[in-house]
Amino acid sequence: MANNLAEKRDNPTSAKGGVRYKRVLMKLSGEALMGTRDYGLDPDTVNRVAQEIKHVVAMGVEVSAVIGGGNIFRGVSGAAAGMDRATADYMGMLATVINALAMQNALEKAGVPTRVLSAIPMSAVCEPYIRRRAIRHMEKGRVVIFAAGTGNPFFTTDSAAALRASEMQCDALLKATKVDGVYTADPTKVKDAKRYERLTYMDVLSQDLQVMDTSAISLARQSKIPILVFSIFSHGMFAEVVQEKGQFTIISD
Ligand code: UDP
Repeated sequence: MANNLAEKRDNPTSAKGGVRYKRVLMKLSGEALMGTRDYGLDPDTVNRVAQEIKHVVAMGVEVSAVIGGGNIFRGVSGAAAGMDRATADYMGMLATVINALAMQNALEKAGVPTRVLSAIPMSAVCEPYIRRRAIRHMEKGRVVIFAAGTGNPFFTTDSAAALRASEMQCDALLKATKVDGVYTADPTKVKDAKRYERLTYMDVLSQDLQVMDTSAISLARQSKIPILVFSIFSHGMFAEVVQEKGQFTIISD
């Protein structure tokens, strides 16, 4: 392996000028891919997100992604309907594989080489998750999509995002949402809700701000990975945020 992990943080490679974060992991919820639908995937939305990722890859940033599965199935809903929670969670993890394949397809159609690595081995469909292989793919400029969450029930894809970002020694975890940051209240419901520019991990935990689940925030804190919350639907914003420009909320120490 050309770049070993210890070297990585001190020796950023080919990102173009202005790029603040050389290796990033984007967390995208499944719901962000629904568009205006109530369920499933909206192809136009998937293609739009793929274009945003393409733009960032062209800047020389190493991009990985964790995509949720809430647009198809959530374990808690299954459990609420009387299913065994662990089984329902495995179904949720399979849903994330569907989303990962849809995003891979859109990215490759846009000319961006992409690999899907699943925490639950599915050799006919995608590669198994192997940490060193994932790093190698990113070093080669391929987008790596981590599918099937952590591979364990009772977790969420937020936790998977913090876990993979830590393992990959990402410089930032970019939480892609429908709004441009963390607000004092839901900005789609409360008119005078204010956006935070900056928060600490402890602010998020102690005020129970609904950014990512607490285990994800705790792990990002422990790994000292800043979380940047931004709108994936604001055209070009992903590219801005990797330069620490544009609209976002940053969560760090
Ligand atoms: N899930 C799981 N373990 C993981 C990640 C996900 O069991 O490590 C299951 C869980 O049932 C969850 C579903 O997969 O509800 C979909 O993930 P999530 O709810 O995090 O998706 P998002 O809200 O980001 O779309």
